[in-house]
Amino acid sequence: MPYIPAQKTRSLTPYDPVEGQYRVRLDANESFLLPTDEDRLKMASAAADVALNRYPDPLAVGLCRDFASLYEISPSYVTAGNGSDELISVIMSAFLQKGEKVLAVSPDFAMYRFYTSITETPCVTLKKREDLSIDVDALLKTANEEKVRLIIFSNPCNPTSLGLNADEVRKIITGTDALVVVDEAYMDFWDQSLIKEAHDYDNLILLRTASKALGLAALRVGFAVANKELTGILRAAKSPYNVNAVSQAMARVILQNRTYKTVYNEILLTSRDMLLEGLKRLETMGLIDKVYESRTNFAYIKLGDAKGVFDWLADRGVIVRRFGDDHLRITAGKQEENKEVLSAMEAYLKRTKGGTDK
Ligand SMILES: *Cc1c(COP(=O)(O)O)cnc(C)c1O
Repeated sequence: MPYIPAQKTRSLTPYDPVEGQYRVRLDANESFLLPTDEDRLKMASAAADVALNRYPDPLAVGLCRDFASLYEISPSYVTAGNGSDELISVIMSAFLQKGEKVLAVSPDFAMYRFYTSITETPCVTLKKREDLSIDVDALLKTANEEKVRLIIFSNPCNPTSLGLNADEVRKIITGTDALVVVDEAYMDFWDQSLIKEAHDYDNLILLRTASKALGLAALRVGFAVANKELTGILRAAKSPYNVNAVSQAMARVILQNRTYKTVYNEILLTSRDMLLEGLKRLETMGLIDKVYESRTNFAYIKLGDAKGVFDWLADRGVIVRRFGDDHLRITAGKQEENKEVLSAMEAYLKRTKGGTDK
């Protein structure tokens, strides 16, 4: 008899980021900024000092302490991961028994559903409202009726760029006895975080990442924030050396830089606002249907011909993300990149659609 891999592996496909060479990359919500030369030298020197023959600190104590200090919380509530992606996977496999249900919303970050298939935990999906906001009462009702054991969503949301305010999130956490995982990957761009109170709840794990506002996607560093009991479980359940020593050392340089986050955030948000303004102009001209309010470093738009625009941009070396036939997600880039994507879109849409220039 030949070996036959488990049924649940049949539908797996490797994560497929955009392939190919593009001049302008506005597809992955990365920061367009690099640390200063001074910080990069410090990072290089920190990396050079790593004892390469030794295993890394399994609990990444220094890294967690620097993260906690930057966000003004206690390091005893913090667990580091190999990106927050790894933490999502650890949470699903550690906190759920096979067959226990997960509740996700749609549209939302696709990785949530992906991990549930590996852990053999059925995923119930609640559709968002027509305007893509989350109906909190409907969410709680579904969680209760379906007896879900874990609720997960991103806030602010990737891909919709919309956010639930802190009170609405509190209502979800206190309205269920399921574990609630709030993925705050983009919360550096908004002010509705629950990071300072995460330890007050017995059923909340909050996720943060160094990949977006902190601009360190290459290092793969993410964090979970939760009360001591949940933190204890996470630390015990993760693989021991999950964050490599070079990443720990390099990320610490950025977390220790007291002005980095504020200064870089301002630049990223200025770029986001510029992109949004340009898109709203296209909306006013009747060339696109809707620009969603953005609490993130990207824009989400509704338009009739997403594929046409996507292909037109790609042909010109500009890559964005397409969601179905009528939505695009565009990461805010450098000023000239924003200008390029906006003028290319305008040219295409005027040609194919003939907007009413106001
Ligand atoms: C980008 C992103 C992440 C991934 O973060 P990593 O720390 O790089 O793994 C997690 N959640 C959401 C919603 C994201 O958009």
